[in-house]
Amino acid sequence: MKLDPKALRYLSKDDFRTLVAVEMGMKNHEFVPVSLICNIANLKFGGGKKAIQNLHKFKLLFHDARKYDGYKLTYLGYDFLALKTLVSRDVISYVGNQIGVGKESDIYVVANDNNEEFVLKLHRLGRTSFKTIKNNRDYLKHRKSASWLYLSRLSALKEYAYMKALYDNGFPVPQPIDYNRHCIVMSRVRGYPMTQIMELRHPSKVYSDLMNLIVRLASYGLIHGDFNEFNILINDEEELTLIDFPQMVSTSHLNAEMYFDRDVQCIRTYFEKRFNFIGEKYPKFSDAVKQYDLDVQVNASGFTREFEKDFETLNQEQNELDFSSDDDNNDSDSEDEEEVEGQEKEIVDEKEINNDQDKEQESSQEEDEDEEDEDQ
Ligand code: ADP
Ligand code: MG
Repeated sequence: MKLDPKALRYLSKDDFRTLVAVEMGMKNHEFVPVSLICNIANLKFGGGKKAIQNLHKFKLLFHDARKYDGYKLTYLGYDFLALKTLVSRDVISYVGNQIGVGKESDIYVVANDNNEEFVLKLHRLGRTSFKTIKNNRDYLKHRKSASWLYLSRLSALKEYAYMKALYDNGFPVPQPIDYNRHCIVMSRVRGYPMTQIMELRHPSKVYSDLMNLIVRLASYGLIHGDFNEFNILINDEEELTLIDFPQMVSTSHLNAEMYFDRDVQCIRTYFEKRFNFIGEKYPKFSDAVKQYDLDVQVNASGFTREFEKDFETLNQEQNELDFSSDDDNNDSDSEDEEEVEGQEKEIVDEKEINNDQDKEQESSQEEDEDEEDEDQ
């Protein structure tokens, strides 16, 4: 799916208001009935229905007339809500090229009005699991499933919170700029993923920088959990930047030692294979003693312990679903996904992460009232 920001221009204030109404309705409905959408959007003279048609035309809403009388957000619809918020906060003004597509994210270069470039990461958790959900429907019948909206939001919030705490403590990570819903805006790192590097001038220095980074993280009570050549960017001076934090684990986690060793081993194996460098010295978990605590700072960004627990449980459920599926076809054709997703009738059970969207709805209502006042 391509994120085409041009359609942003074709959408009116009423369209956005209606899009927010669908999002709000999705807290309690998988498919939000038209009457409820119109009710929440509260537009004059049947404006709601017209807006719904428009949003559907631009594929921001999904509708399956054969099965359900109602609409739900597509990934694109959700992207637009977040983009609109980030644009209205003057954080970004342009969306440029896509520079990365992972299993669980899409990465774009974006810019603000001053032509400063940033990176936008859209979290897409649950993207691969809808086909799996179809295959496991019996298994799912008696329980609620996590919605992709909620999972993706939690994942973005977690990444933002950790990136901020790490950045504030001088770790080599991108500078977090802002986040909304499932999106994060961060500074653009000039460098390449290490997987693209064929040769290093100073392999031994880079190796020990990486090991020191793992140890320093542990001294703050953290293990990256996915410390590999794809998540380490390196520039021409062979300076490193660490990215990708949604899977961070605490050093007090039950399996902390396994995660720690896995991160260390990942680098050793890669250095041997790619650079013919054998890392004889490497840290052990027992040497990496926790000295500082980042919990308070991570909590301060809104990623509380309660969310951490939710995220862990839901993620684990998703993974179990992924593993128990024999369908390895992970193509991301949105139509197809939506079709399959549409068969899943579970009701979304989500907690409020922040009340941005309520605020948006309120503020757009206030604007309308102002306009009405002017009309009189
Ligand atoms: P995923 O969770 O899908 O693995 P990552 O955060 O690892 O997503 O990003 C995927 C790719 O996007 C990276 O390998 C890198 O090439 C690029 N990328 C991500 N963040 C940045 C950034 N701040 N600056 C430059 N490139 C980035
Ligand atoms: Mg990654």
